[in-house]
Amino acid sequence: EQMQGPSGREERFVVSVRMRPLNEKEIAQNDVSDWECINDTTILYRNNLSVSERSMYPSAYTFDNVFRVDCSTRKVYEKGAREVVLSVVNGINASVFAYGQTSSGKTYTMSGITEYAMADIYDCIEKRNGREYILKFSAMEIYNESVKDLLSADSTQLRLLDDPERGTIVEKLTEETLKDWNHFKELLSACEAQRQIGETALNEASSRSHQILRLTIESSAHEFVGNDKSSTLTATVNFVDLAGSERASQSLSAGTRLKEGCHINRSLLTLGTVIRKLSKGRNGHVPFRDSKLTRILQSTLGGNARTAIICTMSPARTHVEQSRNTLLFASCAK
Ligand code: ADP
Ligand code: MG
Repeated sequence: EQMQGPSGREERFVVSVRMRPLNEKEIAQNDVSDWECINDTTILYRNNLSVSERSMYPSAYTFDNVFRVDCSTRKVYEKGAREVVLSVVNGINASVFAYGQTSSGKTYTMSGITEYAMADIYDCIEKRNGREYILKFSAMEIYNESVKDLLSADSTQLRLLDDPERGTIVEKLTEETLKDWNHFKELLSACEAQRQIGETALNEASSRSHQILRLTIESSAHEFVGNDKSSTLTATVNFVDLAGSERASQSLSAGTRLKEGCHINRSLLTLGTVIRKLSKGRNGHVPFRDSKLTRILQSTLGGNARTAIICTMSPARTHVEQSRNTLLFASCAK
């Protein structure tokens, strides 16, 4: 179902928060959680706030979905992403991304979601008669504003080009036509292997890089009525595992200084700005062109596209500052 914002515009972002369980290390260190998911949409901060903190931070946050620690990734997919993902079968662009600090569960969540989504898309198109579907898969990584192909052993930086009709194109990006489910799984493994190579070479790479898995679906009616172009549909869905949000949060959080200038990730920062502008529905300038990530995602963000944002957070008291920043980002996207 579509929700209407105050201006009557369509709400295009589905915003969810997923809290992971305390891990063994945190439990061993007697870390605790002050967060409580009181129902399917609201999360509460339980610890007593000082008077000054109370003026800075809300204690209750409401989103489209709040997933508790015991919630399965399947349920996260079904409630937080499914509807957005399946719009691609009807020719509408979509993106799903995981936002959160390093170790909050982005990769865990996105890898599950991507598989459920692909299985769902296959299911959906098998049930449809009268149309023929071609699925194309690509994968890329953005590290330090440099774009690499995850389906190629060649690690040269890829250029972004502007096409008047298709928008931003990643030049020479490998695009594999999917033969079947097994082929998809093979490509996923290849991609993972390629990512691992990068990680041993560069410390902490996964906290600094963005991974985009992209599926493009072309569909056409078996029988053309005349020369009706509308019977051919092309749409893209991007699954994005973002860099750790600690790379952007300093500038977002109220009251903290910009202390880690050189660690700030331009793509992540720009994405935050773009999301905030789009969610406010203002007609003003949206700075898509300020980063590689937002240029690449542009056609699947805003406009007619559908977007699901899954914010992952750690329950631990030691991570409370980052968790608040994540919730602040999620609130801005609503
Ligand atoms: P990130 O990608 O945000 O850095 P990961 O997805 O790698 O974080 O998660 C960090 C660790 O926590 C991993 O070992 C992962 O298996 C585990 N984890 C994350 N989310 C969950 C969850 N919802 N339930 C159980 N374990 C989780
Ligand atoms: Mg990760």
